[in-house]
Amino acid sequence: MIEYNNGLYVPDLDLWLDARRVKDFSFVSHAHTDHATRHRRVLATPETLTLLEYRRGKTQGKPAEYNQPLNIKDHQVTLFPAGHILGSAQILVEGEQRLVYTGDFKLRPGVCAQPAEVKSCDILVMECTFGLPHYLFPPREKTKERLILFIKKTLSEGLTPVVLGYTLGKGQEALKIVGDAGYKAVVHDAIYQVARIYEKLGVEFEPYQKYPGTDLEGKVVVAPTHMNRQQLQADLGRCRTAYLTGWGLDPDRRFALGVDLVLPLSDHADFNELVEYVHQANPRKIFTVHGFPQFAARLRDLGFDARHLPEKQLSLF
Ligand SMILES: [Zn+2]
Repeated sequence: MIEYNNGLYVPDLDLWLDARRVKDFSFVSHAHTDHATRHRRVLATPETLTLLEYRRGKTQGKPAEYNQPLNIKDHQVTLFPAGHILGSAQILVEGEQRLVYTGDFKLRPGVCAQPAEVKSCDILVMECTFGLPHYLFPPREKTKERLILFIKKTLSEGLTPVVLGYTLGKGQEALKIVGDAGYKAVVHDAIYQVARIYEKLGVEFEPYQKYPGTDLEGKVVVAPTHMNRQQLQADLGRCRTAYLTGWGLDPDRRFALGVDLVLPLSDHADFNELVEYVHQANPRKIFTVHGFPQFAARLRDLGFDARHLPEKQLSLF
């Protein structure tokens, strides 16, 4: 039902799943760069197609709304929410067996993405980015509180708080948290452009301004993660930085990133969510991708038939 040939391929549908190289027809789970190749034809949610067009130019799209099954070559194909970023989807293919490919997902609700669903299946292909037992994220509300405290304290010392997040997804989530907490956000152009698209797709933000070109007094800057401290200080003057990433659970990460604070706000499932997903989906066979091979071993310990697919491998199954 599925083959792995330096990428996931469903032969019955002649459909690739998040292929990295250009293909005739591929499902694209969401618009992050590592998934967003410009294929000749793309199966994705309307939101992902809009974001892909912004990032990669126009492609021929086959839009599929969540939970609106399509027929492709006598198989029923359904996209359903992954809870990762706006428009992110998992795919269910129903033939003789039920196959689910998760793409990137998280089970805990975010502020911009529709909450993830889990569907029972026979074969599960799942991401396992944070598939080691020590990756356990604190409740998102707690992390949000820590971010707001950081902002409050930084402003009270007369410095500019800077929140760093990925251009697509985390940047808009940061903007939403900052605005909803009653602070005025000034947003770096790359995140600003995507936020405008989010708004067109129905996400609402409190009013925000674009940086540069705005007075920063008493405001919070939201900037992409590639901006380093020297750049920021040269641009903004005295500032303090908070970086949003699940890898913030690694003790040395703050020093490696050269920031003042790392907060583990992630758009991926943590270890417990990954295990919970497997229990809910209850598949006969599991293939793990994008993450630690140890996670598949852990699932085998729990009695599941699980195998890790390394990034570069030529094999069929
Ligand atoms: Zn992603």
